[in-house]
Amino acid sequence: MTELKETWQNYIDGEWVDGGAGWIDVTDPASGKVLARQALADARDVDHAVQAARQVHLAGEFSGLRPVDRGRMVQAMGRYLLEHVDEISELLTLEQGKPLWEARVEVHGAARYFEYYGNQAETVEGRSIPLGAGYFDFTVHEPFGVSAQIIPWNYPLEVTARSLSAALATGNAVVVKSPELAPLSTAWFARAAEAAGLPTGAVSVICGYGREAGAALAAHPGVNQIVFTGSVATGTSIAKAAANTVVPTILELGGKSAAIVHSDADLDAFVNDVRWGIFYNAGQVCSAMSRVIVHESRHDELVERIAEMAGALSVGPGIDRRDYGPNMGAMISLQQRDRAESMVTEAISAGANLATGGQRPKDHSGAFLRPTVLFDVAPDMKIAQEEIFGPVLSVLRFSDDDTAIDIANGTPYGLVGGVYTRDLDRAMRAAAKLRAGQVFVNEWYAGGVETPFGGYGKSGYGREKGREALMNYVQTKNIAVRLRS
Ligand code: NAD
Repeated sequence: MTELKETWQNYIDGEWVDGGAGWIDVTDPASGKVLARQALADARDVDHAVQAARQVHLAGEFSGLRPVDRGRMVQAMGRYLLEHVDEISELLTLEQGKPLWEARVEVHGAARYFEYYGNQAETVEGRSIPLGAGYFDFTVHEPFGVSAQIIPWNYPLEVTARSLSAALATGNAVVVKSPELAPLSTAWFARAAEAAGLPTGAVSVICGYGREAGAALAAHPGVNQIVFTGSVATGTSIAKAAANTVVPTILELGGKSAAIVHSDADLDAFVNDVRWGIFYNAGQVCSAMSRVIVHESRHDELVERIAEMAGALSVGPGIDRRDYGPNMGAMISLQQRDRAESMVTEAISAGANLATGGQRPKDHSGAFLRPTVLFDVAPDMKIAQEEIFGPVLSVLRFSDDDTAIDIANGTPYGLVGGVYTRDLDRAMRAAAKLRAGQVFVNEWYAGGVETPFGGYGKSGYGREKGREALMNYVQTKNIAVRLRS
């Protein structure tokens, strides 16, 4: 069983410390029980962490290492997480609600980022630019310095890992602001940094309220780059803060992503994708398949099959769901569950029909919602426009390809999209027209750490993952030399 200390501190400049803003109770959303209390940082704590990171950076203790050595440290952090996968995954399940096997997948996913970006530390190379006789011109890619990273609760480990590993591989020092609803498991990144021998101050991990610690971090003049993953509303306020300090920002925001299912699609494979697309992590995934747009000729059959699959998922405490299988855990909080449930009720009043779900399971009092499938959803209904961030799928129908694309593109978001067909030309036409940072053809979530990820429209800007992300963590300097003969 995982170590469940009563009190969890912040990690600043190599020390575990209390916070100036007191404590927050961290609860298990499956049972409502308080698990532990977490220290909350205030603006002074934030300043302390930023100054420590700044000092490491200016002293070149980390950025000045030979990249291969820095890369090995980054990789060691990932291995450390894997060595502690049992403790970390139990803790994550208890504080976040997901099934234990999903939490294990998340720890492995987090470790994979450190492997991937650790490997790439020594590949960030500049180029030489010919300027004719008498000149030697070249570029170097330098770390920004202090990278501030603000993390959401849905994937606290994977989201932290993807930004932290890329920032460290490129030589930045990092201040992580963990989510106040699920902060405990992120303490393991501080332990991993210590175990891997990173210089003190290169990684600080602090929790705090968004409006207090998060806002102080985003506005801090000592921060050189911000990575924010979370909601559009918070992302907008962070972008405003970053505009004041003229600091580059990566915004990874929400989504309302759609899968287009053509009449020739393989429905067996697709129904399996729906299981992962909208019910994994109880639908609390930014790139969830929250809408299915299906050709009218397959509509009724598909709704029936999805409802059957969704109705068969067992819903209950994640800690009892240790093995990979057809099951789902709690949502993050009663508040999130109630919001999702009321959006379903509202959609039904607006004319949508319920194929399955829509209610809480009778045998559990925690933050549970049964896997829910709505059909007869119109593209302009609130349920088809706003992110729910829960296990709720809306099924819409189309009769011609252009209408399907228009519906898919008809929200302010643009994170991912999918098209299901055996016709490659049709798939490629759709891929070109979908306004999304990533398009899946015949498999939702195809790809991995290696494939760039990020939004169009209100889903944000900048890219995480893949080679593209590395370039978001460095700035280019051109050095032009006039040679004298
Ligand atoms: P949120 O915006 O409420 O909070 C995210 C983080 O921002 C938390 O750490 C919070 O404390 C902090 N925060 C809140 N207010 C702040 C402020 N004024 N200044 C600075 N920081 C502040 O989001 P959430 O509810 O934790 O997460 C859910 C959202 O995240 C969803 O919209 C989801 O789509 C999005 N998300 C996006 C991705 C992606 O990669 N695109 C991944 C995961 C989650």
